[in-house]
Amino acid sequence: MRLDRFLSHQTRLGKKTVRQKIDAGIVKVDGSVETFHRTEISQFTTVELEGEILQQREAIYLMLHKPAGYLSATTDPQHPTVIDLIKEPYASELHIAGRLDRASTGLLLLTNDGRWSRALTEPEKKIPKVYSVTLRDPVREDASEFFAQGIYFAFEDLTTAPVELEIVGEKQVNITLFEGRYHQIKRMFHAIGNKVTSLHRERIGELTLNQLPEGQYTRISKDFKVLC
Ligand code: URA
Repeated sequence: MRLDRFLSHQTRLGKKTVRQKIDAGIVKVDGSVETFHRTEISQFTTVELEGEILQQREAIYLMLHKPAGYLSATTDPQHPTVIDLIKEPYASELHIAGRLDRASTGLLLLTNDGRWSRALTEPEKKIPKVYSVTLRDPVREDASEFFAQGIYFAFEDLTTAPVELEIVGEKQVNITLFEGRYHQIKRMFHAIGNKVTSLHRERIGELTLNQLPEGQYTRISKDFKVLC
């Protein structure tokens, strides 16, 4: 929202008065005087008028090393959720950016910034997500070709985007996805007659868990840098 509209909305002052206040240099945006009426204000922009804070909300980005057994959900009557692992006052504000199944482990992102999480999960962004996958049966030699062509999912009536497959052992593969369909990896292996027995997300973009222990989390920046 534009700064002038934001101020009118927050203070109920008329447009003319708002313009005068901005021109007078008594409006601060993220700590600095702002005189451009149309500056874009997001939900995480700090806005002050004559020293009074009208809005201040911190954007939070976390990476969690998800253990098995936790649901990628905010609440659940039956199972513990990943939010239960976040021992912070803001935990209930968070949502998940790209789920993992309950039995899956690895890198999970949480945030209170809906715009960020939507952008991250858009298939058009083509952000690679790398998984280490263990299979019940030896991997077929032609699996790479099938996955590169895409697998048809009848329920959604779509063909998955090309997937990279690296065979690292008889029953061990690394998969790189550029989108995130429901149970995508399990369903892809099911389609070629195999079964996933364990699945661990190693990487999203350039971000890896590094030495982060299971069940622990750390703050990251919007652009995926670890902060502490
Ligand atoms: N694909 C799956 O099948 N499960 C996950 O948890 C992630 C990707």
